Amino acid sequence: MNEILYIVMPCYNEEDVLAETSKRLLEKMNKLISDNIISSESKVVFVNDGSKDNTWKIIEEYHKKNPIFLGIKLSRNRGHQNALLAGLMTAKNYADMVISLDADLQDDINAIDEMIYKYYEGNDIVYGVRSARKTDTFFKRFTAEGFYKFMEKLGAKVVFNHADYRLMSKRALEGLAEFEEVNLFLRGLIPMIGYKTDVVYYERSERFAGESKYPLKKMISFAFEGITSLSNEPIKMITKLGIGILLISIVMIIYSIIQYFRGATVIGWTSLLASIWAIGGLILFSIGIIGEYIGKVYLETKHRPRFIIETFLNESKGEINKEKS
Ligand code: UDP
Ligand code: MG
Repeated sequence: MNEILYIVMPCYNEEDVLAETSKRLLEKMNKLISDNIISSESKVVFVNDGSKDNTWKIIEEYHKKNPIFLGIKLSRNRGHQNALLAGLMTAKNYADMVISLDADLQDDINAIDEMIYKYYEGNDIVYGVRSARKTDTFFKRFTAEGFYKFMEKLGAKVVFNHADYRLMSKRALEGLAEFEEVNLFLRGLIPMIGYKTDVVYYERSERFAGESKYPLKKMISFAFEGITSLSNEPIKMITKLGIGILLISIVMIIYSIIQYFRGATVIGWTSLLASIWAIGGLILFSIGIIGEYIGKVYLETKHRPRFIIETFLNESKGEINKEKS
């Protein structure tokens, strides 16, 4: 025990919360360090995501006052996910484990102890999962939980009710670094890394100051990003729709031919109706097929790692190492 912990925190216009946040975190870190749970080289890293207010100035001040606080300044606003990744990728060079956290401390920092405990038990990723959404409005809860269920239906693996509050080991972060995609949806990517994982439950509280940087419009585009960057299912739906309409068209063709022989139609109706359905179905089906290829190209261009090796048993090499030491 006594390994180095880095806490990474993206901040966008958070001048109202930083004083309280840094105070609470400092208490937490000091306690963990004095209890010998983490190394005294542990740090808190603020990532300034192109804030327009005094956020960066405040971070600089904290860093000057206490070297436990580090600051990363992005050249401009790149959004929560990118800011978080910037922090994680920097922290992995120094830390043994990294915990990501929002600046408003809506996620209970008392769960950190248990996360670290589970890390020492041998877990590489520990997800923070909300046990209750009491403090969220009905609307936010409904949309957020609906979103997780919808993602699951589309075959994208996400951890239910888990946002971006999690602990990752150094090697899990090195695994994450191999995902080169630009359209970033971290909570969908991280389950793809593998290794031993566990969850820690906590209650999410309300923001104690400032306002949410995720208005409905951003939430919808975030959800859309999640679906389109993890799943090709929407394309498959087009193909299925095309096949469905082609099947209906066969029924419609038979129906209109029967009507034709019964003399219950005006001239031209049969051929028109049959061709509208058949061509409609064919077009949708073809778009779906083309989409399948585009989907494959899309996945290829992401250059995702095809595997991450956890252990390589190689006895003779081990013995050579032993002889050396
Ligand atoms: N954030 C960021 N860049 C952005 C928007 C948000 O770094 O463009 C940060 C923000 O400072 C906070 C975290 O992302 O630390 C989560 O944002 P917020 O609390 O507003 O989201 P909510 O909890 O309402 O979903
Ligand atoms: Mg928040």
